[in-house]
Amino acid sequence: MFVFVVVNLYLKTWTWTVLVIIIFVQITCAGCGQKSASLQDFSGEEFIMNTLVRVHVICEDEKKGRAALKQAFDVFKKIDHLTNRFPEGGPTASSPGDVLKINGSAGLEPVEVSVDTVRIIQRSQYFARLTGGAFDITIGPVMDSWGFGKDIQYVPTDEEISRALSLVDYRKVEVDPGKATVFLPQPGMSLDLGGVAKGYAMDEAVKALREAGIQHALINAGGSVYALGTRPDGEPWRVGIQDPRNSEDIIAILSLKDSAAVTSGDYQRYFEQEGVYYHHIIDPSTGKQARDLIQTTVIAESTTDADILSTALFVLGPRRGMSFVEELPGTEAVLIGPDKLVSVTAGLINQLTFTGDGGYQIAS
Ligand code: ADP
Ligand code: MG
Repeated sequence: MFVFVVVNLYLKTWTWTVLVIIIFVQITCAGCGQKSASLQDFSGEEFIMNTLVRVHVICEDEKKGRAALKQAFDVFKKIDHLTNRFPEGGPTASSPGDVLKINGSAGLEPVEVSVDTVRIIQRSQYFARLTGGAFDITIGPVMDSWGFGKDIQYVPTDEEISRALSLVDYRKVEVDPGKATVFLPQPGMSLDLGGVAKGYAMDEAVKALREAGIQHALINAGGSVYALGTRPDGEPWRVGIQDPRNSEDIIAILSLKDSAAVTSGDYQRYFEQEGVYYHHIIDPSTGKQARDLIQTTVIAESTTDADILSTALFVLGPRRGMSFVEELPGTEAVLIGPDKLVSVTAGLINQLTFTGDGGYQIAS
């Protein structure tokens, strides 16, 4: 059986469009050995972190498969609660999560948080330093000035942007890992973990699946994919990279095993004003949309890292992004510019097959 999954989801409440990369899931195949003949696909999907999260668990035992699925979704809900910066609805309404508490105590006092939150922030800070602030989790006030995360988005004035930018600086975040506290020293500062939380949740969900004894699984959460083990037939999972200008098409197919592929795109969340599209990836040096790329895909063992880097490379642009990622061990990337030029890291060549669709050209 060959299942072709295309997730194309419209988020009415936020008026943003979420499109995720397309996945091929080969669950069983003709001629598979006896082992895979008894394997079954247990799958489920839930809407968490403003994204459709789809999990496929492949194992021989229904009880084990269903329990593992539930554990994976529970992890997503837990991390969503910790990292969501909006109070309305969901579990955050009754008891605020870590990010809500941190943001609510900006300029007042350090907040005690969970180990997960400390880890997410520390990894984000590591890459913030490495990228010279292209990735910056204190981007919250700028996201607010564009109305992202709220019901209405609009283009802010330059003055509004510079006011918001004066509150953005990852170097000011005070993290005490010993006490597990986080402090934002300036009133009005706010963390936005939207560029990393989903990746971290996926890593934790994968950990839970492995601990439950699962050897084959695939998680897809709105443009982030993790391939656990191989397909049941021993072949790597195959993941399609969406054409950034045509959600029906894929431009390349990646082979993945025990690794993540995370895509960021200018088409994932955006609004339109007077014929101009404004998306949700902001260059912290300007407070405006990063426009030198239209899509980035990062492949790494850690989904957390791939998630951070897909956003960071988007901001860095093709030239700086490519030279940055080529220096990172175990990390590969596909960067697509508005001119349809595709840059691919050298280590990815054997893992990637281009379909030839969409008129994309490989940069030499
Ligand atoms: P998605 O949420 O669609 O998977 P990304 O992983 O690329 O997309 O993250 C984009 C999100 O990251 C934005 O919605 C915002 O919450 C946050 N963000 C935007 N710009 C930056 C930035 N320069 N550094 C860190 N986070 C950012
Ligand atoms: Mg990201």
